[in-house]
Amino acid sequence: MGLLEGKKAVIFGVANDRSIAWAISEAFHAEGAELAFTYAGEVLEKRVRPLAEGIGARIILPCDVTKDEEIEKVFGTLKQEWGSLDILIHAIAFANKEDLSNPYVQTSRQGFHLAMDVSAYSFIALARHAAPLMEDRKGSILTMTYMGSEKVIPNYNVMGVAKAALEASVRYLAHDLGPKGIRVNAISAGPIRTLASAGISGFKDMLHYVSERAPLKRNIDAEEVGKTALYLCSDWGSAVTGEVIHVDAGYNIMGM
Ligand code: NAP
Repeated sequence: MGLLEGKKAVIFGVANDRSIAWAISEAFHAEGAELAFTYAGEVLEKRVRPLAEGIGARIILPCDVTKDEEIEKVFGTLKQEWGSLDILIHAIAFANKEDLSNPYVQTSRQGFHLAMDVSAYSFIALARHAAPLMEDRKGSILTMTYMGSEKVIPNYNVMGVAKAALEASVRYLAHDLGPKGIRVNAISAGPIRTLASAGISGFKDMLHYVSERAPLKRNIDAEEVGKTALYLCSDWGSAVTGEVIHVDAGYNIMGM
């Protein structure tokens, strides 16, 4: 029997088959979970729908997380179709391109709000809607972060600040939802080539730097994030909540 047999998971953040959310979905599917997907716009639907249908997903819905009514619709549909929910994956982030290349000091008010809204606030909104469906089901909520929240990573800028807010939200949500048996965690992944990471200037250099300096002397791949997500969202992680787990070949432990 698969680790997630009988579990229902909703996945936010698949853009294509290189997305971290897709690697997580494949790991969950292989362990027996039933999956629902959202996509951020019509262009993405063309990529997400065939992937999702290919692993038997029936619920595939639009959701721009800056729109409350779209979030409400997704959870309304999940309630109607499934009645309950076991797992929520939040793998969403966005910042204006110029805010990922200009000096941080130049971040505009609008750019700051946008990065915070999409990358941090959305996690709170999704968790709030998911929680009532997860009661009495030992629910698990997981988000994706990066160590630019802890240390300065040149060009990561406003996204680092948004990830710091996201990681603090993991702890506050774990405290709020713990009494209902719901766990909330984050994976802090090392750099991986995806659509989102392509927007960060100097991303190629980041990959090179990590492979030279990480204890494991290599980069990581999305499949490795999928395996850790499986641990956190299955019974294997039953006593783990409020954590930010690094999946980064050990890079974060280095001082020099
Ligand atoms: P990705 O495939 O581009 O996924 C990012 C997703 O966020 C896309 O599906 C994107 O949709 C979605 N998104 C952006 N704005 C949205 C909105 N307003 N509403 C709904 N969805 C929206 O890139 P990824 O690298 O897998 O990123 C997934 C998560 O992992 C992000 O939180 C990222 O910060 C985190 N992470 C990535 C790395 C890395 O090196 N790749 C490392 C650590 C953490 P659109 O394409 O339509 O914008």
